[in-house]
Order: sequence, then C-alpha cells, then structure tokens
Amino acid sequence: MKMLSLEVEGFKSFAKKTIFNLDKNIIAIVGPNGSGKSNIVDAIRWLLGEQSGKQMRISDSNDVVFAGTDTKKASNYAKVEMIFEADNKEIIKIAKKYEKNSSNKYYINNKICTLKDIHDIFSNKGVGKQFYSIISQGQVSEIVNSSPEQLRQIILDASDIGEYITKKENTLKLLEKTSENLERLEDLLFVTE
Ligand code: ATP
Repeated sequence: MKMLSLEVEGFKSFAKKTIFNLDKNIIAIVGPNGSGKSNIVDAIRWLLGEQSGKQMRISDSNDVVFAGTDTKKASNYAKVEMIFEADNKEIIKIAKKYEKNSSNKYYINNKICTLKDIHDIFSNKGVGKQFYSIISQGQVSEIVNSSPEQLRQIILDASDIGEYITKKENTLKLLEKTSENLERLEDLLFVTE
C-alpha cells in the first residue's frame, strides 16, 4: 500500500484546498514555526480516525475547522482526502468531512462508509489495523532515552501486538475467575452431598 497524495480543505490552518504529493520514499516538510507543518500530520491522523483531542492538539471537535483570519473567512467544514495505491495497483481514495457542530463522515471512493470500513481496507491488505505509525517530535528523544521496558512497550504499540496482550490478560483473568467459580461449585456440591 503506497501513499500517493493528501488533500486538505478547511482543515486547521489550510483554508483553501491544498494538495500534497506524497509519492516519494522520503518527504521533508519545511517551513517557519507555526506555518502548519504539524497540521499536515494532524490531517492524516484525523482522517485515519484519531479521536484524542490531545493528539489532535484541539479542545473541541470544531477546532479542526479553519477558524478564519483578518483577511480570510472561517470555513464551515474541514475535509481531508488521501489517495493510496494498493499492491495490486488499485487506486483507493479515502476521505473524511466534518461540518461544524455535526458529525464526522467517512468515504471510500466517494461512497459514504464507516471508520471501520477504512481500517478494514488496510487490514485486508495484510498490514494490520495499525497500518501506519506516526512518531512526533517529542517522541524521538523519548525513544532514544527510553528504558528497555519502555522501548518494548513502544514496539508493542507500533506493531499492534499490545491489543492481543490485553486480550490475553483479560482472558486469563476470566479463566481464573471461572476456575474459582468451579471450586466454589464443588464446595457447594460437597456440602449438599
Ligand atoms: P512548529 O515548527 O512551531 O512546530 P508548525 O509549522 O508545525 O510549527 P503547526 O503547529 O502545524 O505549525 O500550525 C500552527 C498554526 O496553525 C498556528 O498558527 C495556528 O493558529 C494554526 N491553526 C491551528 N488550528 C487552526 C484553525 N482551526 N484555524 C486556523 N488556524 C489554525
């Protein structure tokens, strides 16, 4: 699965429709402080379903919509679209639109869908639900300075194994509880005999 392009419109500092060509192995985004470099990464996170206000650097859902400046009118909606090329060369367009004070709408090839449908596209391509990893500025030094245990956790999260470990732990707890219940049942049977 290869990224081809990203289109943002009315998203954070991007008032007008702006298209980024991502069809390269290494992409560098340069610009002065506050010019919107991180907003590009935020757009990708948002499109792929990021729910955390902290990660998105917003305190309200409406904060993703271009708020206007002295010279530019505020937008009523935010839209982000990405085009991918699948391994079989199929072109897949995914999009998300949010109208102020409304709910998020997701699209695959212009047809409305759920966020899960979008995640399924990527998991069907054999790359797992967590099909992307975004390492932000602070995380680089965090990774370099992390202890072996913290590093292990980062790798688990990035490889999406963490979810299975939690499921395994929950199942083990359930087994333990069931075995306690069985013991209790045996006690009761013993008493009534
Ligand atoms: P740095 O190099 O300092 O990390 P950056 O280039 O990554 O900066 P961003 O954090 O992407 O910059 O962009 C910050 C800018 O985006 C700020 O000027 C902020 O006002 C603007 N911004 C964020 N949300 C909105 C919004 N909803 N409407 C308009 N502008 C917004």
